[in-house]
Amino acid sequence: MTSLNLNVSGLPKSATLAINERCRALRAEGETIYDFGLGQSPFPVPEPVRHALQENAHQKDYLPVEGLRGLRDAVAAYHSRLNRCDHRGDHVLVGPGSKELMFLVQLVYYGDLVIPTPSWVSYAPQARIIGRQVNWLPTRAEDNWMLSAETLDEHCRTDPERPRIVILNYPSNPTGATLSSDQLVEIAEVARRYGVVLLSDEIYGELHHRGEHTSIACHYPEGTIISGGLSKWCGAGGWRLGYFVFPSQHVRLGRAMAVAASETFTSTSAPIQYAAVAAYQEDPRLREYLERARAVLRLMAGWATRKLNSVGLTLPRVDGAFYLFPDFSRHREALAARSITDSRGLCEYLLDHTGVAALPGEAFGCPADDLCIRMAYVDFEGGRALEAVSEFLDSDGDEETFDEEAFLAEVAPRVVEGIDGLVEEVASW
Ligand code: GLU
Repeated sequence: MTSLNLNVSGLPKSATLAINERCRALRAEGETIYDFGLGQSPFPVPEPVRHALQENAHQKDYLPVEGLRGLRDAVAAYHSRLNRCDHRGDHVLVGPGSKELMFLVQLVYYGDLVIPTPSWVSYAPQARIIGRQVNWLPTRAEDNWMLSAETLDEHCRTDPERPRIVILNYPSNPTGATLSSDQLVEIAEVARRYGVVLLSDEIYGELHHRGEHTSIACHYPEGTIISGGLSKWCGAGGWRLGYFVFPSQHVRLGRAMAVAASETFTSTSAPIQYAAVAAYQEDPRLREYLERARAVLRLMAGWATRKLNSVGLTLPRVDGAFYLFPDFSRHREALAARSITDSRGLCEYLLDHTGVAALPGEAFGCPADDLCIRMAYVDFEGGRALEAVSEFLDSDGDEETFDEEAFLAEVAPRVVEGIDGLVEEVASW
């Protein structure tokens, strides 16, 4: 038998990619599937960025391992504008997706990984592959399942000098909730007290539904690494472009990551990097694109939340991204009568009975018997939705009186049918 490294042996494929493959296979067999599995943007790549890629198809040379100079400067300038502080281009590291950079930072930094429960599916397996200790911190439904400063403090206090990377992801995958400025300030104070490396995963920052994302880097500039990329806000997951912006204090970490990158992926695709320069410019077309995308996601989240609440499913307020994280615990007895006692079983049941594909809370580190699931509401034609919402926004329509149901039934019929089917199922228990 082939011998495998023990850290990898028995590890399944990432839950996000596995559900995607499963949905594709079921659809190929002719099943009706409402795909709330993989968190992939439904929107097309904005035109100026697509155009820049076409113009740069001829770029064929290896680029510097840290990334194209013009892109690093554009990213630094972009975050300097957003955060009203000074980020430097030579502190930016570009990679083939921020996921790869998250792996590299854990590889080169010798310390524990600290993450809230729930957290995105890949942080902990990456730590396991590298052989790092993972500390899952508890969160509460009242806090929208977000990390609190007190919990972080309690954890760090037990061993104050220990080196740690804390990953904070807001708006959050899997909940769509975010942290307020006050919460960010409090967490920043604790992070500073213990000198933790704070990895601020802001991949959904641009998709804050009201465009009100703020970075914790404003409050803990010396210790925060910002992680971002094109995948979510720019509809370009498959382009694989992410970056880290380092503070001066952690430039050494960035250099060590570049060494590891130089021995592994070499550099990120050249045409994609040239195209990405266009994505980080101040361009009214990009602003408009984002306003529209946010409006679609906001309308959908509001409608879906009301629907799910109507059958006793509770969920955090969705402030950004494209996720819902309903909790089925009020139906625990009805589920137990169907032999369902955990989130994995619940997802299997929903797939079988409603065609809704979702991910179990367990994949995000929740205790197995919690009954939360993540639903990515992305199974719709994003280009069509952007056009339709522009008509509404251009008419200065009032969101309070807007007929979301009719709008969504037209632009996102699979999302509507999926949620309606799920609600009907729950109502029948
Ligand atoms: N972030 C996406 C999700 O949580 C998937 C991307 C990936 O796993 O690489 O569904």
